[in-house]
Amino acid sequence: MNFTIQNVLIPIPTSDDYTTTDVQVIDGIITAIAPGLEVVGEAINGQNKLLLPGFVNAHTHSSEMWQRGIIPPLPLELWLAQLYDFAPLDAEKVYLSALGTAVETLLTGGTTVVDHLVLIPDQELETIATAVRAYREVGIRAFIAPLIQDQSLNAGIPSGDTQQNHEAFFRSTQETLEVLEAAIKQFHDPEDGISILAAPTGIQLCSDALFTGCIELGEKYNLCLHSHLLETKAQAMLAQEKYGCTGVEHLRNLGYLSDRTSLAHCVHLTDNDIAILAETQSTVVHNPLSNLRLGSGIAPILKFRQAGVNVSFGCDGASSNDSQDLLEAIKIGSILHNTTDLEYEHWITPRQAVEMAALGGARGLNMEQEIGSVTVGKKADLVLYDLSNLSLLPRTDPIGLLVLGRPVNVVDSAWVNGKQVVRDGTVTTVDIQELRTELFQHSQWDSKGKSATVEEIEAHYRYVMGLGIFK
Ligand SMILES: [Zn+2]
Repeated sequence: MNFTIQNVLIPIPTSDDYTTTDVQVIDGIITAIAPGLEVVGEAINGQNKLLLPGFVNAHTHSSEMWQRGIIPPLPLELWLAQLYDFAPLDAEKVYLSALGTAVETLLTGGTTVVDHLVLIPDQELETIATAVRAYREVGIRAFIAPLIQDQSLNAGIPSGDTQQNHEAFFRSTQETLEVLEAAIKQFHDPEDGISILAAPTGIQLCSDALFTGCIELGEKYNLCLHSHLLETKAQAMLAQEKYGCTGVEHLRNLGYLSDRTSLAHCVHLTDNDIAILAETQSTVVHNPLSNLRLGSGIAPILKFRQAGVNVSFGCDGASSNDSQDLLEAIKIGSILHNTTDLEYEHWITPRQAVEMAALGGARGLNMEQEIGSVTVGKKADLVLYDLSNLSLLPRTDPIGLLVLGRPVNVVDSAWVNGKQVVRDGTVTTVDIQELRTELFQHSQWDSKGKSATVEEIEAHYRYVMGLGIFK
């Protein structure tokens, strides 16, 4: 795990310039950054390459890979109903899609993934064990957030002026918290690159007792918290129905929001909500592709940034994206907001986007002191980009090309905790040809119409959202 990258281009933090230097890594830690360093361990040729900190894919659901490209254009609430109707997962599929998610993340600049992991009912710990095995094999830094809820799917849609009866969820709140605690005891091992997050899916499908239980487990085991928050207009309406206040206000009142809490989406927030996120130092995970795909809206990212809220990027699951290309998420997540504010001084620059993706991601996982920048003393979670790649030519501003361009196969090398996991553009820790074969063989060309569950709830959804008579 000792190496020295020679003559590599790195950005100078306080300016728009770059410098050519050497970077030395010993025992997984960056030990020196200076030109002409003595070579320790393997010498890596950094010439015509750009070195950046690894990014964080700060919100995804790996097993959705099996449904990418297949779900028709539907808003979240109906999209989710459609997702529920696919054949149940099995452990083999969980394993393969975790591998696939990790590989795509690594090959688009990510060295950390947050997997809000869908659990196979009654095989919850096995599901988590399978994902842990996949992430260990690939060697990506993984935060596994077992996706838990204690209310049934229909409870996630506002009632409006109708009377809705929601069936009970199949597992009690207490049992769900017990599953989570067992997972923490068994798998939470940050030093080894695997962490567990306490991750109730969101206000739409979780009781206060579940949120409170997660807060307690977070305190007991020193974990970060993760949830979806106010992704859609329907969820904002539901929050008012359930609590008589906004979802952000309610979570603040529960004590759920802190500098250890990261919240995916945050599309439908008031100015006061934004102030609360800033005050509690919560992190917003921006998933622009998913928000566009599901018509959820444009998250007020420029307002978050002006208020001092930490923002990072996620791909979200591959059936609402429908890929795991982190560079694509960073690009869209930066320039999308130029349409929301005429004041171009507020727009996100490529350098700021890179910082959000790396340091912002690290901050949301309480890892700011350890990863997220190329700094002496930090862990070597690093990515080396090939600046002679056709998609990064001709030579202009390297980070501008990376963020605003359409980079293809530009990751030359990547290290996680000082261990090399990508070399010469290929993930070296798993057999990619075999992964391709397995993904191919475990699936088939398919296209589906609307599922039975969508048919069941669509009329109510249309009514309550004011979409008029269902045709
Ligand atoms: Zn999600």
